[in-house]
Amino acid sequence: MNTQTSCGVTAEQLENFKTICKAHGLRVTPQRVEIFKMVAQSKEHPDAERVFEAVRKTMPNVSLDTVYRTLSSLEELGLVFRVGFSSKARFDADFDEHYHFVCTQCGEVYDVFPAPGERLEVPPEVEEYGRVHKINLQFSGLCARCQKETKKDL
Ligand SMILES: [Zn+2]
Ligand SMILES: [Zn+2]
Repeated sequence: MNTQTSCGVTAEQLENFKTICKAHGLRVTPQRVEIFKMVAQSKEHPDAERVFEAVRKTMPNVSLDTVYRTLSSLEELGLVFRVGFSSKARFDADFDEHYHFVCTQCGEVYDVFPAPGERLEVPPEVEEYGRVHKINLQFSGLCARCQKETKKDL
């Protein structure tokens, strides 16, 4: 069952988060919980700055550096992952199979959820190397909004 808590993160997600942190000896501090929640509830793939701005509202003492470090440790534990361009990493906590469209101009990251029949076939060549657990597929190009902006400038 998907019981939504008020902030949009499921109780299951939070329990899973706590269990994994504890299993790896990472203390479940209110800051870490807030940072994880912010990424997990957002559909926008926030970057570290955006997470910082949001978390700071409830926790004025948090520093940008703490946010960066926390995101990295959550990434190591497999609780969040990076998407977008490495020069401006954005974070995602949605592990349902989906792909991303990243705009080369504004850096916006859009989710692409394949319909059941549209899931990507893993080429047999890949399976010769081993079993695939996760497909990390990213399309890049100019997003519709930026296309419009570009037209306006002409
Ligand atoms: Zn764009
Ligand atoms: Zn995503």
